[in-house]
Amino acid sequence: MSKTKTAFFCQNCGYETVKWLGQCPSCEQWNTFVEELIQKEVQKNNNGWKDYHEEKRINKTISLSGIKSSEEKRLITPDAELNRALGGGIVPGSIVLIAGEPGIGKSTLFLQIGLWLKDNVVLYVSGEESEQQIKMRADRLKLNAVASPGENFYLLTETSTQIIFQEIKKLRPQLIIIDSIQTLQTPFIDSSPGSVSQIRECAAEFQRFAKETNTPVFLIGHITKEGSIAGPKILEHMVDTVLQFEGDRHYAYRILRTLKNRFGSTAELGIYEMTDEGMKGVLNPSEILITQKEDQLSGIAIAATIEGMRPLLIEVQALVTQSVYGTPQRTVSGFDLRRLQLLLAVLEKRGGFHFGIKDVFLNIAGGLKVEDPSIDLAVLCALLSSFEDVSMSQHICFAGEVGLSGEIRAVNRIDQRIAEAEKMGFEKIIVSKYNQKGLAKQKFNIEIVTMGRVEEVYKYLF
Ligand SMILES: [Zn+2]
Repeated sequence: MSKTKTAFFCQNCGYETVKWLGQCPSCEQWNTFVEELIQKEVQKNNNGWKDYHEEKRINKTISLSGIKSSEEKRLITPDAELNRALGGGIVPGSIVLIAGEPGIGKSTLFLQIGLWLKDNVVLYVSGEESEQQIKMRADRLKLNAVASPGENFYLLTETSTQIIFQEIKKLRPQLIIIDSIQTLQTPFIDSSPGSVSQIRECAAEFQRFAKETNTPVFLIGHITKEGSIAGPKILEHMVDTVLQFEGDRHYAYRILRTLKNRFGSTAELGIYEMTDEGMKGVLNPSEILITQKEDQLSGIAIAATIEGMRPLLIEVQALVTQSVYGTPQRTVSGFDLRRLQLLLAVLEKRGGFHFGIKDVFLNIAGGLKVEDPSIDLAVLCALLSSFEDVSMSQHICFAGEVGLSGEIRAVNRIDQRIAEAEKMGFEKIIVSKYNQKGLAKQKFNIEIVTMGRVEEVYKYLF
């Protein structure tokens, strides 16, 4: 006899409680608790994959010296960007969460990766689209030209985890892609798909499966812009690796950012361009992120940033105009609004520029979101260039963080940034004077100008 039980779950962080609470003790959010049906009395120990491998893994205490330190053989995919983000390929038995906004291209990317893995049996489980829709998508992307379809790539449109595991037992895939975790449903929990308890239980089933059978599992999960939909967030601690797929859907570029990785560095990322033929890895991102222009325009500055482990030259565009309405507008895309306000305050206070009566628009080209603070100096110069309506040389780029007192602060891995600027044909780079120590200037052909304060940069450029 099974008895129906309910529990309350915080929709923000997944905290479970027996009673309704106004404020979550874990994440301190208000009014986030929702009652969900759970049913735990059903026998759930038999999922059917216990006899999946002949070699059963028996857990017993073992001396550390008795464990062979063999490097786990990773599955290297034909997608260099994914390999990079994962820290060198897929680790057997790992469980990877791919989070991103709906419609950004997660399904396209992982359908493509599944099809490309010709030598491995891949199971793609979709709870969102029908077989026909997926086939049409594959055809549209001309993926069938690269992969011979139907040989090792299997499709299952199903949402019940029990049926999925039955199919898995028959097929014995070497990689499983679940699209998406929010559509799955386990019969052991009564609440609806997408609720906190369902997501958590379904993910837990796949986690046990991955560890017991040594099969890698990719879970695709949707998040909103605010990251507020329950789901991926509560899974972060359950999975081995969290990859975030981000970008502006109006632009072609996408970033696969590693937020957590038990098997590698989190300072890695992959960059893709969305084309008619699917996601293409971008090998030289700097080249495409800088627009090539004939004439020089004001309000444009190039920043030498580091995203993940890779140097990346990014174009910053600013527009400063006379404010028409009483309250001046500040609009940003790809940059933190508060950071912009801070830089404007620095210019106002240290340089005497009256931005208070101006509208300011700031845009990072390509729709990318930049986290590296070294972009500050380029943002500041783009603002000044638009304010003065004086264009800067196209052959100059910037790398420096700006402090509250107007000082230009040192940034990390300066050599890598300078080398990238030189490679891209820039003639001059402005960096912090605090980066001078240990900087082998003679190593480079590019002219390196070092400065300590914002005022010096202004005098130098305008
Ligand atoms: Zn909470």
